[in-house]
Amino acid sequence: MTFRELNLKDEILSAIEELGYEQPMPVQEKTIPFVLEQSADVVALAQTGTGKTAAFGLPLLNLIDPETEQVQALVLAPTRELCIQITNDLKNYAKYLKGVRIVPVYGGEDIRVQLRQLDHTPQIVVATPGRLIDLLKRGKVNLEHISFLVLDEADEMLNMGFKEDIETILERTPEDRRTMLFSATMPKEIAAIARNYMKDFEEITVGTKNAGAENVEHIYYLCQAKQRYEVLKRIADMNPDIYGIVFCRTRQETKEVAEKLMNDGYNADALHGDLSQAQRDTVMKKFRERHIQLLVATDVAARGLDVSDLTHVINYNLPDDVEVYTHRSGRTGRAGKKGVSVSIIHSKEKFKIKQLERTLKKTFEKRPIPNGLEVCKKQLFHLINRMQQVEVNEEQIAPYIGQIMNQLEYLDKEELLKRFVSLEFNRFLDYYKDAPDLNIPEKTKESREKREGREGRAGGRGKKTGEKVRLKIKLGDQEGITPKRLLGIINDVTGDKSISIGSIEITSKFSFFDVYADQVNQLLTAFSRNSNLQVLEAKGSKSFEERRGERRPFGGDDWGGRRERRDERPARRERHPDFSDKPWRKGRERNYSGARKK
Ligand code: AMP
Repeated sequence: MTFRELNLKDEILSAIEELGYEQPMPVQEKTIPFVLEQSADVVALAQTGTGKTAAFGLPLLNLIDPETEQVQALVLAPTRELCIQITNDLKNYAKYLKGVRIVPVYGGEDIRVQLRQLDHTPQIVVATPGRLIDLLKRGKVNLEHISFLVLDEADEMLNMGFKEDIETILERTPEDRRTMLFSATMPKEIAAIARNYMKDFEEITVGTKNAGAENVEHIYYLCQAKQRYEVLKRIADMNPDIYGIVFCRTRQETKEVAEKLMNDGYNADALHGDLSQAQRDTVMKKFRERHIQLLVATDVAARGLDVSDLTHVINYNLPDDVEVYTHRSGRTGRAGKKGVSVSIIHSKEKFKIKQLERTLKKTFEKRPIPNGLEVCKKQLFHLINRMQQVEVNEEQIAPYIGQIMNQLEYLDKEELLKRFVSLEFNRFLDYYKDAPDLNIPEKTKESREKREGREGRAGGRGKKTGEKVRLKIKLGDQEGITPKRLLGIINDVTGDKSISIGSIEITSKFSFFDVYADQVNQLLTAFSRNSNLQVLEAKGSKSFEERRGERRPFGGDDWGGRRERRDERPARRERHPDFSDKPWRKGRERNYSGARKK
């Protein structure tokens, strides 16, 4: 489809051709003909960067009457920056439309200037809600004749607390106006506005609802909360050409992170609400012009900052709202470019990742935090690449090159390279030489088994790994021993259940059982102290499991924790003469209880 096919005025077509727009973007293809040909309202789910300004701006300019000096269209936007940007875009599109006046009104600017501009009634007003209310109260703007109302970034306006202002404004507009609502996300509050203030509207979706841009890769690093900053630095060091926003939760955190980055030599600055408008403008300008690589910002402060080719969005802290995450990540991966949304999280935030995955229907990839060596390698090759691409200024160097050649004559190529590389690279090597591993060890199967084994000692069934030793005790079937009773005896003698007992085999005179090698001494000591029963290593015998290979050991789940309690000891114990009075403790009672107190 071409713009010409959209039936726009020639003046508009000339303007967009001059801007280099070759064909309509998807949101424009869907919205423009609908607005021009139908009469219903529009709710469009589209993020910044999808071409939404032209999607509402072009048909709006096509439909207003330049001859009539009345406000015919109102565009509401959440921030000053967005107001200015929309106004500039509209002015560009209206370049050849005679008599069209577009005036932006927003807070944070001397109202008198805006009042003067409004003296000559514009056909289009682009406003932030707060300032517009102010002007409405002063009777300086009349919305009674508007035919079009655009709510741009409606979700942002609600996030910024403009709900009541928007409703007040809507009530000052004629009922037969046409409304176009643009929003990156569709929370229920937006749906409510659409329901309450819009007539049978057409829903236009570009991309997936509530989903971030398609070409954004979502990754996360898991670390200890106190290591966030270190991880951030590694991310920055692993991506020497990074151009991104680091999102923090609070102004204070924003300031701290930015200051630390600057002190550590990074090309960074902060954007937060404590800055004056002039300071904000300066920082944003520097960032837009890429004099700053990492902009540390709060969500509120970053609103209205329209930078299209961010390589990374970094969530220094994950937001509580999925929508906030969508907005953040939607700032990268624009205009067909690839983008990365990185989250630095600690273990307790893993559920948030799961939540995001479910809502956005995207997979978040866990990446290992790069170690010092990887960072150094990355930096080294970045240096080499820069060296390959550097523009050599022959003319300027010419007067010195002879002397330099003489001075370095004794160095061969390899030595020369080593020195040259070291000059730049040593500081990285120094910094990273003892850099710790910032990864939190995952709960691997093995560590899980260890943990469960520990829990098993408290009474549950558990598993432990390691070499096993087969022990024997001179108590057998003759004495009425069963596996359960044997466990009871071991429990009583050792006085704690931390010793895992494996496969048990009972013969007429002896009972054999497996114990982990590192617990054998503990068990033998307990028996020698607390009982007359002798426990010996079953000489020459491999552990039971080794002998029987794959056979499932006793109890189904080989290393069962011993769960038998004293009061559950089977009645058959009387068959062993010694059982009547815990004979295995005879003469050891004091020792036994002493050991337990420890
Ligand atoms: P927006 O989503 O309105 O902020 O637009 C994103 C960017 O795309 C702006 O820089 C527009 O100038 C540009 N743009 C809008 N429509 C087109 C188009 N049809 N072709 C090329 N660029 C466009």
